Amino acid sequence: MAAPLSAAQIEASLQCELRLWKRLDGREPPSDPVASAELDRLRAGLRALYPEAPDAPASGSALPLPEAGTPAAVLGAQLSVAGVSVRLDLLERREDGRLVLGLVDSETRVRDPLVDRAALQFYLLEYAGFEVGSVEALLPDPKYVRDEELDWQSLFRRIDITRQARLIAGDVPGDLARAAAVAAAESPPAVEPSPHCRRPSPCEFWTECTAARKDDWIGHLPRLRPPRYQALRELGVESIAQLDEAELQVASQRNARRALLAGATFARDDLGRRLAGFGPPAHFLDFEAVSPAVPVFEATRPFEVVPFLWSAHSLDRRGELRHRDWIGPEDRDPRPGLARTLLDALGGDDAPIVVYSGFEAETIEGLATALPDLAGELRRLAGRLRDLLALVRETVYAPGFRGSFSLKRVAPALVAGFDYAGLEVADGGTAASSFLELARAEKRPEGAPELCAALRAYCARDTLALVELLGALRRLADSGASRPGPP
Ligand code: SF4
Repeated sequence: MAAPLSAAQIEASLQCELRLWKRLDGREPPSDPVASAELDRLRAGLRALYPEAPDAPASGSALPLPEAGTPAAVLGAQLSVAGVSVRLDLLERREDGRLVLGLVDSETRVRDPLVDRAALQFYLLEYAGFEVGSVEALLPDPKYVRDEELDWQSLFRRIDITRQARLIAGDVPGDLARAAAVAAAESPPAVEPSPHCRRPSPCEFWTECTAARKDDWIGHLPRLRPPRYQALRELGVESIAQLDEAELQVASQRNARRALLAGATFARDDLGRRLAGFGPPAHFLDFEAVSPAVPVFEATRPFEVVPFLWSAHSLDRRGELRHRDWIGPEDRDPRPGLARTLLDALGGDDAPIVVYSGFEAETIEGLATALPDLAGELRRLAGRLRDLLALVRETVYAPGFRGSFSLKRVAPALVAGFDYAGLEVADGGTAASSFLELARAEKRPEGAPELCAALRAYCARDTLALVELLGALRRLADSGASRPGPP
């Protein structure tokens, strides 16, 4: 008999049947390390709300539920019916006899994947003969402010999603039948990568599924929406180069077309002029931050952004480069120390501060709100930020971008020899989860210095990437390789 499908596999099949197929061979889906750790933490926190509830190791359709009239709760019951096995965060028999299904999520609001999960559990419970009175989402309340001790009762807010779950539950039999057919098939379903791969969450198989696609594949067109992709495929359009410039609404799309037609990096002729505000002299800044669903530091809220590390390269007029950084103590709120040291390092001149995206501006505004004594100085600093991402998006495209403007894609595509190799911490998610483990004392203290060194090295590589990228853009503008931009 085939093993039952898991809730995660059913969820994958709702996005793409090929995603389910690829999950069948036992691969562990790479998950966002912060999101999955926070979800586990929230699930564990339910215990504080129901200290008497037994953990439920039972499986099958026999759930250890008390009879009506006996209020009680069961945490973590495993239900296996209809070829599917799901873990139920909370089953609660209320005093009025109603059976309440509770689902924990580490999101700020109820999103479609949670409703799909609720609908599946609702359907399976009714299939197993239980009458579900209502369905509740248990989410962290963004208004909750942590004291010295965490108050789980105040952290959770309950949202009734019975209506949505009941409505979508009607689709579940069809979803399960389709998933079972994929699981029983001898070959993978024929599914093309397309914008559906990014919704509701980026698929972990994107790199694998698109490896054979050329740089000019239509799916690499920047800001391509699913209906537009579908319409272009129906017209037989496979390559970005087949598109007319007149039908491209967005500068990055027109730039992509020109680069791919030429088979070379394209830059608009106003690139040099638009680089004028980026120095040198200039500083190049990057933050690493955490925004946990379960707040770690006193006086912070769920999902509040708490930066713990800044890194800055500074380039003077003679081309000399200097690096400074600061990483917070993991046992208390790092923001006061971070803001003070940042102002000491970069607040003494008026050179532009080059960043990549709006994240640094939002983070500095968050610091100004949290630290009113420093608000004026911080906002003056924010006024000097120059966003290189916005400039690259509007003025440059290289075939190696493959539709992405992330710094990790753009810098290696434009700077010969630059890469992110050799780093122990290689992405922002890992950096955040590593710092959270330190802050929650989940990492052995003796490993902390090495981890902090790895985090600093990672952040420093990002700011060095900005220095190198700006140099490459200047060379591009000076080389005359740029062409007239669209009107
Ligand atoms: S990358 Fe796209 S096509 Fe490939 S498995 Fe994921 S969702 Fe499906």
